Amino acid sequence: MTCFVIGSGIHGAAIAYHLAVDHGLRVVVVDSGRPLAATPQSVAVVHGFYPEHDRSRLATLGLRQIDEMNRLLDTDIGLRKVGVIHLLDDQHLTIARDRARTETRLRLLTRDDIDRLLGCDQTDIAGALLERDAGYVDPVALTSAYLSAAQVNGVERRHEDVLSLLRADGRIVGARTTAGELYADTVVLAAGADSGPLLATADIQLPTNIRRVQVLRLRAERPPSDPHPVVLDTV
Ligand SMILES: Cc1cc2nc3c(=O)[nH]c(=O)nc-3n(C[C@H](O)[C@H](O)[C@H](O)COP(=O)(O)OP(=O)(O)OC[C@H]3O[C@@H](n4cnc5c(N)ncnc54)[C@H](O)[C@@H]3O)c2cc1C
Repeated sequence: MTCFVIGSGIHGAAIAYHLAVDHGLRVVVVDSGRPLAATPQSVAVVHGFYPEHDRSRLATLGLRQIDEMNRLLDTDIGLRKVGVIHLLDDQHLTIARDRARTETRLRLLTRDDIDRLLGCDQTDIAGALLERDAGYVDPVALTSAYLSAAQVNGVERRHEDVLSLLRADGRIVGARTTAGELYADTVVLAAGADSGPLLATADIQLPTNIRRVQVLRLRAERPPSDPHPVVLDTV
């Protein structure tokens, strides 16, 4: 069985690897190297706490998986467990308090902890939660490691632009690329923000709305500690 994976950002790279290694499938992965792909720009923070229970469960599984990656891919994926601090409002503090009772990896911080760790007065928050074993990875190192390991396991990589999807009998059966037509038993679309426009070429409307956002990068003159934890402020 042949699988055709469109896009080799973190999703396409991981999917290509697991289809080949875990399922023994023949995989071809195609990427054109779009300059605005998300993966190389990601901060790649990995953490397990979300207010929604199902999302938390999935993210915590992901966090454990990330822990295994250095060994699995036999390389340094830049995992730094610096800890992640979530700044919380009243509603999310109640949820965090409940979770911290049952999950030992989570700890509610006191006001003193917050002031010491953040090095400034936080008056507009109800509390904060520390995930000790969370942190960030190097997104490029992780993606490259997946792709290298995928290639070692027989995955074919191509540098081509996918122009449209090919549809027959109500199924996606392949794609037209700058190098010609490619047919496969399964087509995996992992083209990030370009997935919607590609699906539209097969008359499938993806109900997503892509918009540009602004990202501001600041460099602290004196970080409160080194290495310092990731701080997620959703208040
Ligand atoms: C500034 C920023 C910070 C972020 N921080 C975090 C974070 O801290 N933690 C976190 O979990 N997530 C974070 N994210 C989100 C995360 O980076 C993305 O969810 C993830 O990288 C998406 O990966 P992807 O493989 O789906 O898409 P992409 O990385 O966008 O990959 C899609 C690939 O498809 C290729 N492609 C597209 N169209 C075509 C085509 N027609 N033909 C051939 N190839 C094509 C592109 O070249 C690209 O390589 C952040 C994102 C940004 C932008």
